[in-house]
Amino acid sequence: MADRDGVIWFDGKMVPWRDATTHVLTHTLHYGMGVFEGLRAYQTSKGPAIFRLVEHTDRLFNSAHIFRMTIPFDKATLMQAQKEVVKQNHLESGYIRPIVFYGAEAMGLSAKNLSVHVAIAAWPWGTYLGPDSLENGIRVKTSSFCRHHVNINMCRAKSVATYTNSILAHQEVAMDGYHEALLLDVDGYIAEGSGENIFIIKQGKLYTPDLTSCLEGITRNSVIELAQEMNIPVIEKRITRDEVYCADEAFFTGTAAEVTPIRELDNRTIGNGKRGPITQQLQALFFDCVSGKATHHTDWLHYI
Ligand code: PMP
Repeated sequence: MADRDGVIWFDGKMVPWRDATTHVLTHTLHYGMGVFEGLRAYQTSKGPAIFRLVEHTDRLFNSAHIFRMTIPFDKATLMQAQKEVVKQNHLESGYIRPIVFYGAEAMGLSAKNLSVHVAIAAWPWGTYLGPDSLENGIRVKTSSFCRHHVNINMCRAKSVATYTNSILAHQEVAMDGYHEALLLDVDGYIAEGSGENIFIIKQGKLYTPDLTSCLEGITRNSVIELAQEMNIPVIEKRITRDEVYCADEAFFTGTAAEVTPIRELDNRTIGNGKRGPITQQLQALFFDCVSGKATHHTDWLHYI
């Protein structure tokens, strides 16, 4: 990733990709206190557009607020910078990664008087969970690792440290041949995927875990809105893994994963083992919105 052409926005300046480096004593590298975002820019007939730039930027600032990190730029500057990295890397579509991290002034856990840095990179990124995953769905396994308790890490924050837990879970199931992990909360209820929110469909109703210990996903929010507009009832509640086994349909949502059908959990086929009809409808609507083909939700797109 580091050795390539292009530019990265770093603390207010566009720098050559290979020069966007930091010191090995960077505080965040040692203790994991940093926050980040992941956004996608999609190709549209009017050029590339960033999906829900405002909401992602708001979440970045909320994540920083939770960790008492003061971002030394305002939201307007960072939104403009995200557009610039797409433009200056000549991307028609791609993934955008803003990250906020502490500097290398001091070690130790007081994290006092540290500088706060912001970098924004963007690169082309195709389907996250495999080339045919959007059509055929994926095989998921419940991980032996639990999602964070609400008072261990802050679940509303998209923080660097959260992702050691995600990597443990993902690697555990990927080594056994599954596409993705499902994590339970500490009480044993469904929380989310390693980098996705989860939905199930039963008798025409859409269910998703409440936000106690999963990330407040922006794709999740988009799908909820789209479902409500289709008059599909949406219920946020605690969900058990056997409810997923017996669901008619299930899918993951996320910026990287988009709307990915789940065809199997823990070696139990879900529904008919294929992308279900409601999943397909929501997925199609979602892709119409992100690609500028839909006539509604045009405010979700921010053209470069
Ligand atoms: N949960 C986790 C743990 C994630 O990493 C992500 C991806 N950011 C999501 C859910 C989905 O969030 P979003 O739809 O905002 O990308």
